[in-house]
Amino acid sequence: DPVLLWFRQDLRLSDQAALATAAAEGPVIPVYVLDDETPRRWAMGGASRWWLHHSLAALDSSLRARGSRLILRRGKSADVLAAVAKESGASRVHALHHYEPWWRNAEKAVAKTLDLCLHDGTLLLPPGAVRTGSGSAYRIYTPFSRAVMEHMPPVEPHPAPRAIPAPSRWPESDSLADWALLPDLPNWAEAFAKDWTPGEEGAQANVAAFLDEVGDYPTARNLPSIEGTSRLSPHLHFGEVSPAYVWHRACASGHDATIFLKELIWRDYAHTQICNFPTYGSANARADFDNMGWRDLREAKGDFDAWKKGRTGYPIVDAGMRQLWTTGWMHNRVRMIAASFLIKHLLIDWRHGAQWFWDTLVDADYANNSVNWQWVAGSGVDANLFTRILAPLTQSEKFDAADYIRQWVPELAGLSDDAIHDPDAHDARPDAYPAKIIGHREGRERALAAYHAMKR
Ligand code: FAD
Repeated sequence: DPVLLWFRQDLRLSDQAALATAAAEGPVIPVYVLDDETPRRWAMGGASRWWLHHSLAALDSSLRARGSRLILRRGKSADVLAAVAKESGASRVHALHHYEPWWRNAEKAVAKTLDLCLHDGTLLLPPGAVRTGSGSAYRIYTPFSRAVMEHMPPVEPHPAPRAIPAPSRWPESDSLADWALLPDLPNWAEAFAKDWTPGEEGAQANVAAFLDEVGDYPTARNLPSIEGTSRLSPHLHFGEVSPAYVWHRACASGHDATIFLKELIWRDYAHTQICNFPTYGSANARADFDNMGWRDLREAKGDFDAWKKGRTGYPIVDAGMRQLWTTGWMHNRVRMIAASFLIKHLLIDWRHGAQWFWDTLVDADYANNSVNWQWVAGSGVDANLFTRILAPLTQSEKFDAADYIRQWVPELAGLSDDAIHDPDAHDARPDAYPAKIIGHREGRERALAAYHAMKR
């Protein structure tokens, strides 16, 4: 009998334990289910759908090169898999573990009717593999990271199978074009293709290109004006490469990759947290934040829109928000600055910002997005103090963001390195660029007052 291979955020053929096991058992029917029902409000956002479209096309062509193909179906994962199994006479499903709460619910539902075999490979180590001395899950990143390091390197990744046994008859498949995953918003996402090549081949090429640079990562990663980070996040989110593959390649680069590998461990850390707190994306991990006096979004709508459009009058924030809109990605340092500005200077609930990121990031990831937003807000399990309020203008100078601002805020391109971070202070603001929507000191004081009121 054929076996089903259920693809989710693991759109690759190499180091794919579910595929390797399925291919050893018999004819394989690879299935991708577009399931917006199980995740409900966490259904994929627009930028992710753009990525998914291209990644599925790439996966299908790699499968075809191996005598197989990708069956596309739409609906609730458990119902769809049960239907495909019935049509094809399969009773077993192989898949990788995923830790988003909706995936865990879907797995339970699938396991009610089919023999579901789940494999590791989404993370460096499965959640729970490392525990504190008292046997509980780690809540703080640094000791977690140290414990993970002791188990590294991960298991050596295995190559893609050369051929995948095909069933005698293929079940029906939807056509990818009919799914209309590409956004139909005019002028949006058109430029994504300039920056990105979704799919396993693009992901591996990205890893290879980064290996020469990994030695410079410890300093380069903080400078938004240069391409100093790997830009692997969407590839890792969609599982087009495994973290184990990235780990081994980085270690073999001949450079000291320690700092980079620690960032990869942040990804494991975030996924461990959503296992412990499945509502991490929608609820404060620290309950005192439930009493925070965030501004009502109806009153703050103008400010929220200015943030989304990159028109706050803070060049570094605006550059980041426009990079996000244009490319589906934002530099990590700038994500921190832009998120902090929304939460603290504008006193807008982190969940609104996280939702915007969810819709616009090609790497939108439930664990990484929720854990990082709550880290910035101070409401997370392991978090920055709310009272440590980043000064956007100082950050912009410190991390040398002048060229980054010139690229993304062309109205300011003619300003000097001195003036560009804070045009108002240098009397250099062109008319086309907005004045600051709130002063730094005013925003800071309002945020601190709200925090102290919450603590009372
Ligand atoms: P590199 O610096 O090259 O790091 C390599 C990989 O390590 C990344 O691809 C990513 O998988 C992982 N990683 C790095 N930093 C982090 C981190 N802080 N937390 C978790 N994993 C990390 N990352 C996402 O993948 N999806 C998100 O939705 C997301 N939302 C974020 C929201 C905010 C407010 C902030 C501050 C950060 C967010 N991040 C998110 C984390 C980080 O900004 C991105 O992973 C990183 O910028 C991706 O670029 P890169 O691949 O070049 O990273």
